Amino acid sequence: MSLIVQKYGGTSVADIEHIRNVASRVTKTYDQGNDVVVILSAMAGITDRLIGMAREASENPDKRELDVLLATGEQTTSALLAMILNSMDYPAQSLMGHQAEVVTDHCFGNARIVDIRTDRIKELLRQRHVVVIAGFQGCDPRGNITTLGRGGSDTSAVAIASALEADVCEIFTDVDGIYTADPNICEKARKLKAISYDEMLNMASLGAKVLQIRSVGFAKKYNIPVHVRSSFTEEEGTMVVNEDSGMERLVVSGVTHDQNQARITLKKVPDQPGVAAKIFTPIAEAGIVVDMIIQNTRAGGQTDLTFTVPRASYKTAIEIEKKVAAEIGAEDVFGDEQIAKVSVIGVGMKDHSGVASTMFSTLAAENINIILISTSEIRISCIIEEKYTELAVRVLHSAFGLDAGS
Ligand code: ADP
Ligand code: ASP
Ligand code: MG
Repeated sequence: MSLIVQKYGGTSVADIEHIRNVASRVTKTYDQGNDVVVILSAMAGITDRLIGMAREASENPDKRELDVLLATGEQTTSALLAMILNSMDYPAQSLMGHQAEVVTDHCFGNARIVDIRTDRIKELLRQRHVVVIAGFQGCDPRGNITTLGRGGSDTSAVAIASALEADVCEIFTDVDGIYTADPNICEKARKLKAISYDEMLNMASLGAKVLQIRSVGFAKKYNIPVHVRSSFTEEEGTMVVNEDSGMERLVVSGVTHDQNQARITLKKVPDQPGVAAKIFTPIAEAGIVVDMIIQNTRAGGQTDLTFTVPRASYKTAIEIEKKVAAEIGAEDVFGDEQIAKVSVIGVGMKDHSGVASTMFSTLAAENINIILISTSEIRISCIIEEKYTELAVRVLHSAFGLDAGS
């Protein structure tokens, strides 16, 4: 008998029929004698819809109240699954984040889990209940509802699996595993049997939304095997585990894309000590994460400075920089939301030259202009126009020999 945590994403609980399908998977696992804890997302599209409603209600919705609203998506699916299980004569109980005692910090909209007290969950499991927990939500030490950032149910699942010392955490989604690129835009993407925590961390941080990055961090820290698989087939998916010698070691092991990007340029910034701090301190104080930064060569004591931020922070960031520009005497501030980041990733890249030149010449052959570049030991990222995203992913996937059957 094992303790199995199963998480079902939005498309897997899109309506009552889909939730029935989840119920039948859960009962099958339960009937095999396992203890089952289920973590659910909201129905597909609901979180976006709730955010839309909040924006209609207020131009700048209060963050605490927004989390109260967003948590209702997961509350709905959890109650519905528990009802269906009960009607099938399986003992089941739903728990909201605060009832499952998922304690977070107080950063509404992007809270971090700091503790999970498992007594109530364990008591229900002892009584042979299926425990259904609303993902994506927790509560701060004062009892306020918090949410964990988009895609946060993955993190709920892995964190609860680690707190319970579960044998495995299964992430059921709408693809049957982790691929060398998003299979929805790159039809030649190859499914991986296994991927190391480190490689998955990189892929997630560079846009592969199949797992929220924090969930991979948890899995690595507590050594929880994560099995990403489809809720619509019986097929084995992809295991996210510690690196072992049997894993493929390719120079480039994956191509990712991230359309959640925007860039901001400050033109003719005075090239003096302290100016960069003036530009980036208020951005950091607003809680906005800056990704790439490029400063052009100086001319006449002035320079242009460009950086990227998540698209959701674009409007706030540009407002901040307009004020900064006036203060420091920069000539202009402008930006662009129609950009995307494409990246090639591989731990094998460390010992190889030529990856960057292959990447640049492959994009050039398709006439795709590179706006910004950043590199690390194990990845190269380029900012390009958003309309070329799919094309760029496909040609890079081929150029690095990743295509299925090649
Ligand atoms: P869920 O609602 O189940 O959490 P998500 O939409 O968050 O599902 O994540 C699954 C999606 O991740 C897939 O539909 C796929 O488009 C996308 N994805 C991006 N990169 C990859 C990848 N390398 N392998 C598999 N899926 C990927
Ligand atoms: N419902 C939340 C979202 O759409 C959390 C999740 O699905 O993981 O981001
Ligand atoms: Mg997700």
